[in-house]
Amino acid sequence: MAHPLEALLALQEKDRKISKLQREIRDIPARRADVEKQLEGARTRLEATRADFKKITADLKQIEVEIGARREKITKYKQQQMEAKTNEQYRALLNQVAAEEKEISALEDRELGLMEKSDAVKTVLAEREADLKEEEGGIAEELEMLEERFQEVQEDIDTLIASRRQLTGNINSSLLSKYERLFANKSDFAVVEVENEHCSGCHMKLPPQVINDALNPAKLVICNFCGRMLINRR
Ligand SMILES: [Zn+2]
Repeated sequence: MAHPLEALLALQEKDRKISKLQREIRDIPARRADVEKQLEGARTRLEATRADFKKITADLKQIEVEIGARREKITKYKQQQMEAKTNEQYRALLNQVAAEEKEISALEDRELGLMEKSDAVKTVLAEREADLKEEEGGIAEELEMLEERFQEVQEDIDTLIASRRQLTGNINSSLLSKYERLFANKSDFAVVEVENEHCSGCHMKLPPQVINDALNPAKLVICNFCGRMLINRR
């Protein structure tokens, strides 16, 4: 008579494979999220550079407007100079023109600095755009691979479940449900072998009576320490 736990050992082998694959399936959404987060990072960096560029462009425009306004003032002062009635008036207008020119010169310096910065940011912008495009390509590939793996694992699980069903047909139903509860509870092994007088599930030394009983196909022996089913295959 074959030991009834032999059939459970074969079943357990399949169940362990199924559990492992199910864990892999469970991890796929997190892996997908990681990949998408990577893309989000490239997008955020590009947006930040775009905002920098926009700000510089707006500042440049603002400076242009201000220079224009000051130039108009100079034209007006120069007209007033020609109509000046006294030397004081003339000199005061001359000073105002000089003051405006000084402001314009400072604005032009700032403009030059901003234009240099704008060129640098433009280069970074092109790099970031290329980065994003590359990320998008790579990520599409990674997501596709994950999807393929998902399908593959799902198919393997289906196959294992089908062959598992064939095995369970020959197992006593009360023993089977005991095993299933234990397997779900332990999440590694429900049935373990006696190895060198020890339970191979919890590695505790077993009493001689238990070791002996575990040889007997007519007895269901449970490890006192961990509660797993014991079989002694010698
Ligand atoms: Zn044990």
